[in-house]
Amino acid sequence: MDGKAIRKIVIVGGGTAGWMAAAPLAQRLCQGPGQRCEVVLIESPDIGTIGVGEATLPTIRFYNQALGLDNADFIKNTQASFKLGIEFKGWGHLGNRFFHGFGEFGPAVDGMAGHMLWLRLRLSGMTGLPSHEDWSAATVMARQNRFTLPQSGPPSAGNAFSYAFHFDAGLYAAYLRDYAMQRGAVRIEGTIVDVELRDTDGFVAAVRLQDGRRIDGDLFLDCSGFRALLIEGVMKAGYEDWSAMLPCNSAQAVPSARAPSLTPFTTSTARSAGWLWRIPLQHRTGNGHVYCNQFTSDAEASRVLLDGLDTEALDEPRQLRFTTGRRRQAWVKNVVAVGLASGFLEPLESTSIQLIMDGVGRLVELMPDRDFHPALAAEYNRRMQAQYESIRDFIVLHYKLTRRDDSEFWRYCAAMPIPDTLRHQIELFRAAGRIVILDREGFSEPSWFSLLMGLGVVPQSRDPWLDRFDGDALRTHLERVRRAIAGTVAGMPDHGDFIAQFAAAP
Ligand code: FAD
Repeated sequence: MDGKAIRKIVIVGGGTAGWMAAAPLAQRLCQGPGQRCEVVLIESPDIGTIGVGEATLPTIRFYNQALGLDNADFIKNTQASFKLGIEFKGWGHLGNRFFHGFGEFGPAVDGMAGHMLWLRLRLSGMTGLPSHEDWSAATVMARQNRFTLPQSGPPSAGNAFSYAFHFDAGLYAAYLRDYAMQRGAVRIEGTIVDVELRDTDGFVAAVRLQDGRRIDGDLFLDCSGFRALLIEGVMKAGYEDWSAMLPCNSAQAVPSARAPSLTPFTTSTARSAGWLWRIPLQHRTGNGHVYCNQFTSDAEASRVLLDGLDTEALDEPRQLRFTTGRRRQAWVKNVVAVGLASGFLEPLESTSIQLIMDGVGRLVELMPDRDFHPALAAEYNRRMQAQYESIRDFIVLHYKLTRRDDSEFWRYCAAMPIPDTLRHQIELFRAAGRIVILDREGFSEPSWFSLLMGLGVVPQSRDPWLDRFDGDALRTHLERVRRAIAGTVAGMPDHGDFIAQFAAAP
């Protein structure tokens, strides 16, 4: 091993972030000749985890694959269900309903994406054109409660979609804990009460536990959740508060009984001071109400949550508070914040676990040696900032484009200031049907298209490159694609039956 390589990584916190960091680090660093690096995780028996991160984005599959997890085993052990996207109800205006599905809107033609081809027909005034959602295989599947894994082979209606998972966050953390510990990660139970800094440079030398134990290390991952024990408590990294444009600051979560029909999607229903989530799992349904307590009381929020359940509540609602925003620097000296310690964006598009995965992935890519060259931290911070801001813009979009004026909350959202980057994107789409926030790490063009269209933005003029396509020929082509999707989906199994196959597998 090189003389300067990191010899010991200490992960502070054993929530989803801690164990999602420990698993790949143990896999890569604890094993193999010449690669010995200790990975130690400290979790407090007295300070619980937040445990409500249950919906994910499709890249979770690549994370699981990189660990070599078996899909069936993972689905069984975490009570997971498949997720094809999010159904939005009441967003934009009362009674509105649209779907943000994972994947493209049919195949590209001559380099022109499927959704742009549809847009051409729409803007040319063609009558009787079905909704763009009919070209999203994920959306068509979700609307019929059907699911199967994408077929291998050349592009077809059978693989024109992507998918993610819903899972029980506590079971997933436990699953990854077993994985990491089998590969050499060491778990220490204890509560950190003090942090020891090096005199020379202010780097963290060690943390001290309540029982007096001293745990030293070269690199410290702060996965301590909203407490941000090291990154804020010690390094004073600073916090950029985004509450003015994302005013929700509270949530209540409650599990309810499993629904008779297992939907392959998350549901987000806008309410008068926020929104309700519904996440179907095999053993129960996850529910929550995200809201702003300046526009409603906790008691009223609780009533709205419980009234909105479609199955029997299994517990009392659990109250949570948060401040939306991001840590100004996620990496300072030898401390890297991952998970809620690095910031929080409300779970409207299930992005927190994505930010954990990407944070860990970037750290692996930019792994320092014990010299901790500042350029590595600067690059890490630059990319985390770009990703946070891009996701922030996407989430603000959901609120800003509302035409609801039935409550003070929605009137605030319609009038609130938004970042220039988002204003530019909305104007560009409205004026010319273009989506450009691609050079920033965040959601893809079809995702932006789903939201912009779903919220009622119709471009005033189309991309002139689309004029290369003959309208009638394009209509015939798109109709063929639409029929292929409809026919293929009609032959897919019910999502619940498909999951049952996995659960029954030996
Ligand atoms: P935590 O779960 O809070 O874990 C913190 C850990 O630090 C614990 O183990 C604790 O014991 C330890 N700790 C703290 N202080 C000390 C100390 N002094 N000594 C020792 N240990 C200590 N994300 C999604 O991707 N999808 C979703 O659907 C989703 N829904 C959400 C809904 C809500 C309402 C909220 C608030 C969040 C949601 N998230 C979601 C975010 C997701 O829950 C978190 O990103 C994820 O759980 C990671 O949390 P964490 O591990 O950073 O923190």
